[in-house]
Amino acid sequence: MEKFMHALQFAAYKHRFQKRKDLDGTPYINHPIGVAYILSNEAGIKDFDLLAAALLHDTIEDTETTLGELEQEFGPRIAGIVAELTDDKNLPKAERKRLQIVNAGQLTSDAIVVRLADKIYNLRDLNRSTPVGWSEERVEEYFQWSSKVARQLFGHNVQLDTILKDLFLQRNIRF
Ligand code: NDP
Ligand code: ZN
Repeated sequence: MEKFMHALQFAAYKHRFQKRKDLDGTPYINHPIGVAYILSNEAGIKDFDLLAAALLHDTIEDTETTLGELEQEFGPRIAGIVAELTDDKNLPKAERKRLQIVNAGQLTSDAIVVRLADKIYNLRDLNRSTPVGWSEERVEEYFQWSSKVARQLFGHNVQLDTILKDLFLQRNIRF
């Protein structure tokens, strides 16, 4: 529990100036908190280190946080999960998205459930409100890409699988 609260405080500080892409400009930290909440409330996960990793999952990718910093503050397991979930920002965006599909099979079970909850949060967000500047076609493409990532990750948590499959079925997307 102590490490979990530390992760909450750490993520809130690191993301403090960031906003989501929705019209309201929701504080970014709502997203990692929501991902941890999906894991705890909808997927039945009680592992505090895994929930802490969910809170931290976008810190390396979207803030100046380093892997070394996470290792020092939270230890190798939590830092390792976040590292697995971090795209290489030196690569072009299209390549990063392609690699998420290609590399999905290599993820550990810990990283997979966080990745699935992350996708659920983002797809629900898109259903709730279209981000500023996005066309319906772009939203649809995001759903299609997410289904290609998710279909390789099914089989680790039945609740998360069911939620995602429903989200894809609602848009007639095969998985
Ligand atoms: P982005 O990767 O740019 O944005 C999606 C990411 O933004 C999510 O994965 C999520 O990441 C974060 N995010 C923040 N706020 C929200 C929100 N309210 N709802 C959902 N996600 C949110 O988007 P694309 O996948 O569409 O971009 C892929 C490529 O498509 C890019 O290369 C882009 O240049 C290109 N493109 C496509 C267009 C089209 O019409 N098809 C038009 C323009 C560009 P996290 O979980 O990390 O927060
Ligand atoms: Zn995320």
